[in-house]
Amino acid sequence: MTRSSGRSIARVSASLPAAAYAADCRRCPRLAAFLDAVHARHPQYHCRPVPPFGAADARLVIVGLAPGMHGANATGRPFTGDHAGILLYATLFKFGLATAPESRSLSDGLRLIDTRITNAVKCLPPGNAPSPAEARQCNTYLAAELSVLPAGAAVLALGRIAHDAALRALGLPSRGRAFAHGAEHPLERGACLFDSYHCSRYNTQTRRLTAAMFEQVFAAISRHLAHSTGRPPLRT
Ligand code: SF4
Repeated sequence: MTRSSGRSIARVSASLPAAAYAADCRRCPRLAAFLDAVHARHPQYHCRPVPPFGAADARLVIVGLAPGMHGANATGRPFTGDHAGILLYATLFKFGLATAPESRSLSDGLRLIDTRITNAVKCLPPGNAPSPAEARQCNTYLAAELSVLPAGAAVLALGRIAHDAALRALGLPSRGRAFAHGAEHPLERGACLFDSYHCSRYNTQTRRLTAAMFEQVFAAISRHLAHSTGRPPLRT
């Protein structure tokens, strides 16, 4: 089953490689069928692969897991409309990386500053759990996206699956680069992969991840970007 792409789709950063996103991708049969079923129940929802949000030449690329049912899958923008976006966008605003502390919809006028947000898996998975095969399938998009990472950039992986996806996309083995909250993994050309626990409702409500912990990660990213690119640090 296919659906026409008549509905508006969020604009993808103009200079990202074409291979970084495909609005009508259905390469994962389970996810495509799930999106069809969700779309039948919620015809106003986006229910397609969710495109990256932010400029192609951003120095900070944030990699999440996958769209949430009533968040990105509904609105068509990563981390927009669900609980996981609350802490993320508030923190981006605090560090001068977003023009507002909330992301509500594609039409809210929000802009990211020197930052792009993407997901390891672009389609909503049942139970927020993509299979390993689906994560591998979608990794080609992330690989194309990260192929234009600027020298000295920072990649922030939100959770272990995003960490593993980022390494795979960059063609790097995981040995010696284990996921840990607050970990920093040097990459080629002065770039660095930073790890954080995912800012999910579960992690924030159980205080596995607090705002202070999250801000410490962003402070480390700010120091890295200031050092590696010689440009001013992010606001703190
Ligand atoms: S998860 Fe990725 S590879 Fe799978 S159908 Fe969606 S966009 Fe395509």
